[in-house]
Amino acid sequence: MVPSGPAPFRQPALHAAAGQPLVCLYVLDDETPGDWAMGGASRWLAASQPDRAGRKAESQGRHADPAPRQGGGNRAAIAEETGAESVTWNRCYEPFAVARDTAIKKVLTGSGITVESFKGTMLHEPWEIRTKGGHPFRVFTPFWNAMRQMAEIEKPHQAPHRMHFHDDVQSDRLADWHLLPAKPDWAKGFDWTPGEEQARTALYDFLDHIAGYKQARDRPDQDGTSWLSPHLHWGEISPRQIWHAVRARPQNEGAETFLKELGWREFCAQLLYHNPDLPTRPLDERFRKFPWRRSEKDLCAWQRGMTGIPIVDAGMRQLWQTGWMHNRVRMIVASLLIKHLGIHWRRGQEWFWDTLVDADLGSNAANWQWVAGCGADAAPFFRIFNPVLQGEKFDPKGDYVRRFVPELAGLSDRHIHKPWTAPTPPADYPAPIVDLGEGRARALDAFQAIKRPA
Ligand SMILES: Cc1cc2nc3c(=O)[nH]c(=O)nc-3n(C[C@H](O)[C@H](O)[C@H](O)COP(=O)(O)OP(=O)(O)OC[C@H]3O[C@@H](n4cnc5c(N)ncnc54)[C@H](O)[C@@H]3O)c2cc1C
Repeated sequence: MVPSGPAPFRQPALHAAAGQPLVCLYVLDDETPGDWAMGGASRWLAASQPDRAGRKAESQGRHADPAPRQGGGNRAAIAEETGAESVTWNRCYEPFAVARDTAIKKVLTGSGITVESFKGTMLHEPWEIRTKGGHPFRVFTPFWNAMRQMAEIEKPHQAPHRMHFHDDVQSDRLADWHLLPAKPDWAKGFDWTPGEEQARTALYDFLDHIAGYKQARDRPDQDGTSWLSPHLHWGEISPRQIWHAVRARPQNEGAETFLKELGWREFCAQLLYHNPDLPTRPLDERFRKFPWRRSEKDLCAWQRGMTGIPIVDAGMRQLWQTGWMHNRVRMIVASLLIKHLGIHWRRGQEWFWDTLVDADLGSNAANWQWVAGCGADAAPFFRIFNPVLQGEKFDPKGDYVRRFVPELAGLSDRHIHKPWTAPTPPADYPAPIVDLGEGRARALDAFQAIKRPA
């Protein structure tokens, strides 16, 4: 249950500015370099936030001007419009965001405006945790050990007594940003509720059963994880709030495992910070010459949840229908795409980027590289998930598959993860697009090719 009383405050930048008349600014930056402008699900979330959370939008929206990197963008324009003396924000760590914010800081400071940025979205700055030799970590366990040995995480602030807002600033109309998908409106089935209140509810619902997290977290047929990733990504809750809420409860195996997952989030962010081309370039250089297959047909079957492999199709349909996918299933679908189908991990990463409501550059890239075996601390390439065995182990009664693949609902538990073995396989469900044994053998051959010296 959510505790009564004021919530710990999640916004250090806002906290620092409270006391003066505030202009809260949301800048839609569509000029992101590379292919990393907000994906479709992220745009849906940005559009849905104020209405869906049932709250008055207190922030002013502005479309980023065409040259924010040179000109200082809207933050500078609005600072001038309102005569602001100071500008504060919570730091972002994506390479393009660092470049943008550094440039804006320079412009504002040059105009005599005080600028301060804060650590709001991470537990530690990505440059804080280093090996004894002073290098960024590439392996998770020593990173986590070092993180646990650091001073206890700062507590979140208490909410300021009062905040008053400068109400004389012109905002763009959210509707004019055309963020919602059309043709098709594939987000119409999303049952995701964004917002701060929902984030706190999710946290405290989860804390009531955190003790069983270690086992339940791998079961897509159960509600065993926190569902906090989109809230975290969008800053609707801070990791400091989560950390201290967990630490305030009895400590057990479940709680420690969960804190470790927050550690993975930090690990991924610092990998991206120190390797800005993480989304495009394998950390293991050998994989640059991996003989990837090109097959639009197979990629499309994977995206649409029509591979004929039930656990994979259930995951891909969960993603399309809800904007989210269970972590165990993310690993299974990624493994099938990369290994059995031999398709480049970047194609999968791009699809996730477009369709996940928690799409996050660091976590997405680091995890795709991890599954592909080319990332930091990655699972070795030759360890190839068998999706049938994974389904039988983690969705033993097939409840998850039945929920998202209704064509298979009538099959027995014995056949649900391998419908092709049923006496009468459902006529409206495809046969597997790949023979799992052959796909595996082909993947191992391809891997041998990059292991041979040139
Ligand atoms: C191929 C692939 C792509 C992924 N892409 C993303 C992504 O774009 N954005 C994203 O937030 N997560 C991503 N993940 C990690 C993970 O799947 C999600 O964070 C998790 O499923 C979110 O659900 P939850 O909040 O219920 O997780 P919980 O199990 O409740 O975990 C709590 C929090 O820990 C963090 N976390 C958990 N697992 C991981 C992990 N493996 N890596 C990094 N952080 C983790 C998340 O912030 C999560 O909210 C990806 C994983 C894979 C295998």
